[in-house]
Amino acid sequence: MKLLVLPGDGIGPEITDATLTVLKAASETFKLNLSFEQQQVGLAALKTHGTTMPDGLLGHASEADGVILGPLDQLSYPPREKGGINVSAVFRVKLDLYANIRPARTRPGLGKVKDAMDLVIVRECTEGFYADRNMHQGNGEFMPTPDVALSIRKITAQACERIARRAFELASKRKKLVTAVHKANVFRVSDGLYLDKVREVAGEFRGVKLEEVIVDAMAARLVRHPGHFDVILATNMYGDILSDLASELSGSLGLAGSVLAGDALCCAQAQHGSAPDIAGQDKANPLGTIASLSMLLRHSFALDGEADAIDAAIGDSLAAGDRTADLIGTAPAVGCREMGRRVAARIAG
Ligand code: ATP
Repeated sequence: MKLLVLPGDGIGPEITDATLTVLKAASETFKLNLSFEQQQVGLAALKTHGTTMPDGLLGHASEADGVILGPLDQLSYPPREKGGINVSAVFRVKLDLYANIRPARTRPGLGKVKDAMDLVIVRECTEGFYADRNMHQGNGEFMPTPDVALSIRKITAQACERIARRAFELASKRKKLVTAVHKANVFRVSDGLYLDKVREVAGEFRGVKLEEVIVDAMAARLVRHPGHFDVILATNMYGDILSDLASELSGSLGLAGSVLAGDALCCAQAQHGSAPDIAGQDKANPLGTIASLSMLLRHSFALDGEADAIDAAIGDSLAAGDRTADLIGTAPAVGCREMGRRVAARIAG
């Protein structure tokens, strides 16, 4: 098993190091024949290679058995013609990593809601409002005049159908409820097509209930009754926004694991961004990336026992009161590196 590790920008190198500490502990404890190769992407690669996405990276990723991708600070990238390539977008589209799986659950002593919450957001991530990935040629965002800006949103039957199938398959193994988020009252054609496909797929899963909720109402319901939800199915942007909300309700954005899962390849990438405000200070919470690693081991290698051990080590650390700064708001807190060590030590026993 060969993993490609791409630390990325901002807090990416710190949380990746902490995650690799955990990966090494798991590999030794469970005698996994696991190796990894680390490569630069993002601002580090821009300095050394003149581009945030060096040549050959896509080929490397497609040959790997799994990828760990750190966060990317796209806002700081130069325009594409000067080397600023959105690696996340290219990976998602070119490697067809269409399903972004984002769980959120409350744990004892953590969480900002009264109800216990245990849900998974299944988010389509190759099209939707993300104009940078919607065109065969040319740019999906453009300005016909200096004071008018337009962007193209793309919704396809194929993408809706396959992401819906992922959501129903997952719900059939959980609490058997899919909540499809939409805004078909405004986007009658595009979200209408999405809902048509979702209903079609729902017909194949008789044991799973489908409910449909308008996205703005969904934000309120998620805060009011988070315990109601099981699998939340969403197009790209709605899923991105709701998953930040859900993970923050569970305790912190920094806790939230996530994978980008295609039919062939899977990529672990925590939900949060590059957090430039705390980069390089050993303050970041690495648990989101460690949880993403566990999801990758489960998804790509069927290493359920090993993934369970990592999840249990995360849970035990939190239950023992280990807290990075984002979980308690103020210092003194456990640093990023130390958090990785503590989780690793629990795995090694
Ligand atoms: P980007 O532009 O890359 O998305 P951002 O700072 O706009 O970066 P996030 O990185 O998602 O967006 O961060 C939002 C807030 O949450 C920031 O204040 C950041 O410090 C905090 N945050 C995000 N991830 C973590 C983490 N792993 N540990 C601690 N705090 C985090």
